Amino acid sequence: MRIGELLAGAVRALREAVYPEGALCAGCGKVSDGAYLCPGCRRELEHSDLLASWECRDLDGVQAWSMRPHRNLPRKLVLRLKHGAESRAAEELAGLLRTAPDYFPRPSPDTVVTWVPAPRARTRERCIDHGRKLAEAVARELRLECRPLLKRRGNDNPQARLNREQRERNLRKAFVPLGPVDYPVLLVDDVLTTGTTALRCIAALRNAGAKRILVLTATHAVNDGGRAGRRA
Ligand SMILES: [Zn+2]
Repeated sequence: MRIGELLAGAVRALREAVYPEGALCAGCGKVSDGAYLCPGCRRELEHSDLLASWECRDLDGVQAWSMRPHRNLPRKLVLRLKHGAESRAAEELAGLLRTAPDYFPRPSPDTVVTWVPAPRARTRERCIDHGRKLAEAVARELRLECRPLLKRRGNDNPQARLNREQRERNLRKAFVPLGPVDYPVLLVDDVLTTGTTALRCIAALRNAGAKRILVLTATHAVNDGGRAGRRA
C-alpha cells in the first residue's frame, strides 16, 4: 500500500515534469484539456454524495462543519494544498461551499474568516501557510473579510523537558488571540480529525471575547470503514 502510493507519486511527478502545467488533471493525473480537474473528477467532487457528505459535529457548543469525507478526490486536493501549496486546490475545496445543504448556517456579513496558524517551522519549510490559503479562498467564496486572529504561542522549551501538567497547560494555551474579537468568526481548517486543535482555537477566540464561532473544514476523518460522515 505504502509502496504503491510512493510509486504512484513518483509516476505522477514524472508525468508532471513532462507535461506543461495544467495539462494533467489534479485528481486522476490523466491528460486534461487545461482545466485543473477533468470533467470526470469535477463530477466526482461536486456531485458525489451530494446530500450525504456534509457533516456537522459539536465542539464544545460550536458547530464544526466539514464538506467532504477525507478520502478520494477531496483528500487528494487537501494533500495538494498542504504539500504543494496549490491555490487551485484551495479554490476547488472552497467551491464545495456551493454544495452546502440548506441547513448549513450561512455566516452573517460581519463575520471574519480566519485559520488555524501553522507551526512556524512548517510555514518556513513550505514558505506557505496552507490554512491561510484555504481560509482566503473560503472568504472569497462567501464574500467575507479574512484576516489572522490567532497566533501560535512561541514555545522554546522542548515538550520532552516538561512534566505532564506543564505540557497540558502548554497545549491548552497553544493559541493566543491577536486582539479582542467582538464579531462572529468562521474558523477554517483543512481536516477535522479529533477536533482538539479546533477546540484550542475556540478557547482562545472565546478568551478574546468571541460569542459566535463556526468551524468549517474541507474534509473530516473517517474511521469506520466508510459509513461515517453520511448524514440523512
Ligand atoms: Zn481527473
